[in-house]
Amino acid sequence: MDYKKYITVVPDWPEKGIRFKDITTLMDKGDVFKSAIDEIVEYAKEKEIDIVVGPEARGFIVGCPVAYALEVGFAPVRKDGKLPREVIKVDYGLEYGKDILTMHKDAIKPGQRVLITDDLLATGGTIEATIQLVEELGGVVAGCAFLIELSYLNGREKLKGYDVLTLMQYD
Ligand code: 5GP
Repeated sequence: MDYKKYITVVPDWPEKGIRFKDITTLMDKGDVFKSAIDEIVEYAKEKEIDIVVGPEARGFIVGCPVAYALEVGFAPVRKDGKLPREVIKVDYGLEYGKDILTMHKDAIKPGQRVLITDDLLATGGTIEATIQLVEELGGVVAGCAFLIELSYLNGREKLKGYDVLTLMQYD
């Protein structure tokens, strides 16, 4: 399916010079959203996934329906201070400054095969930090799936050696 026609490109948001890819106009079309999720599920099926992991907030939108279809669990990656029990943390670089991502310490059992999901791969910083958390807990990253890849930001460079699926690419 040509998913790109359902993405709304919003110029100069959230700041001047950024062309934001708004996925809500894909999500609100049930058949299109289902088709995108189904493609990720097909990709993941042969990977013997034990658990899906996604960073807030749009990683949940993609990851939860995939986990449901695969009949496996979902573990959230959240900003610092949001998870209620013992966590592990990782610092990651943002365009301006730094932030912290966290996971519950018991979210993944050592050796579990993990599918990581997010809506969009840009510089790869978010996904690199997510991989770090998963691997620190002993998880095996079996695949990473995104709706959108901004190819010109070279996020794939950070994912060398990992299996990656993206449904749309912007050059
Ligand atoms: P990265 O860490 O790869 O540079 O940025 C990816 C993260 O930023 C993702 O979690 C994604 O949700 C968010 N993001 C950055 N730019 C966009 C955009 O244009 N559209 C959407 N939907 N998310 C974006």
